[in-house]
Amino acid sequence: MAEQQLIDGLGRRIDYVRLSVTDRCDFRCVYCMAEDMTFLPRQQVLTLEEIERLAGILVAQGVKKIRLTGGEPLVRQGIVDLCSRISALPGLRELVMTSNGSQLVKLARPLAEAGVKRLNISLDSLDAERFRAITRTGELQQVLDGIEAAREAGFQRIKLNVVVMKGRNADEVPALVDYALQRGLDISFIEEMPLGHVGRSRAEAFCSSDEVREIIRRSHVLIDSAEQSGGPARYMRVEGYPDSRIGFISPHSHNFCSTCNRVRVTAEGRLLLCLGHENSIDMRGLLRRHPTTDTPVLEALQAALQRKPA
Ligand code: SAM
Ligand code: SF4
Repeated sequence: MAEQQLIDGLGRRIDYVRLSVTDRCDFRCVYCMAEDMTFLPRQQVLTLEEIERLAGILVAQGVKKIRLTGGEPLVRQGIVDLCSRISALPGLRELVMTSNGSQLVKLARPLAEAGVKRLNISLDSLDAERFRAITRTGELQQVLDGIEAAREAGFQRIKLNVVVMKGRNADEVPALVDYALQRGLDISFIEEMPLGHVGRSRAEAFCSSDEVREIIRRSHVLIDSAEQSGGPARYMRVEGYPDSRIGFISPHSHNFCSTCNRVRVTAEGRLLLCLGHENSIDMRGLLRRHPTTDTPVLEALQAALQRKPA
């Protein structure tokens, strides 16, 4: 039988899905959340069984890579079991996760054993006070210990994610690069995106990927690389450090929409075809209205993909 595939209206094959398993988080990063957040009532969030069912439908349609994210995925009760069940889906190539690292001291090993292949861990500063100012509630040492626990747990790759902001952490780019290089980790620098209402202006803090690259070039020789990880990052290698890659995620300065191979599902089960468009499809309603047959869910998914923006 021919392999099932999800193809959008422009012929792009959708094989990468980001699933948000919760809208909750133990941090309140300044670029992501307001200080006083109201989270969704529990019944509006997909149950673990619904997430697993949706993942199964997507993988049966040829999705090869699933990234679990949030909010903070590791604050969701039952997350390790969910990972075991998703990673066992036949046909899935990779289950990966993005985390703020706060729970990794206790969860890194169980996650690796549950089949999570790679981890992205957010780390915006190596200074405890600044880290607290950016995350509002985060403890730097807890995250650094979590990174060490992840290194020992045997993931195929660990990548650090840094949202670069002038006046907050742009001057720490060299220190963060050295931290990653010394440990053989990958590191990606992300341009801040105007996501959500965070109650402050973002313009004066904006730092482009080109600026970050120039900062790194002052102390390291960067080598262009054609490597791809299936996401929007463009990678470079650093002379003398074969184990690490430096990535740049540049939604502002280098538009990557035309090759976008992904869709996302929010914690409420809304399928988003694009981060920059509000249009979404209510997968939760479909899953709940049709508990015993996947056909209506599939049909809605196929129809929605025809509307993925160019
Ligand atoms: N809580 C986890 C974490 O922080 O890694 C996973 C969810 S978080 C929304 C996923 C990634 O998005 C993190 O690397 C975070 O730094 C990044 N992010 C959040 N808000 C952003 C924004 N406004 N612009 C750019 N990146 C952002
Ligand atoms: Fe939480 Fe991640 Fe958002 Fe920070 S970026 S508030 S850790 S979800």
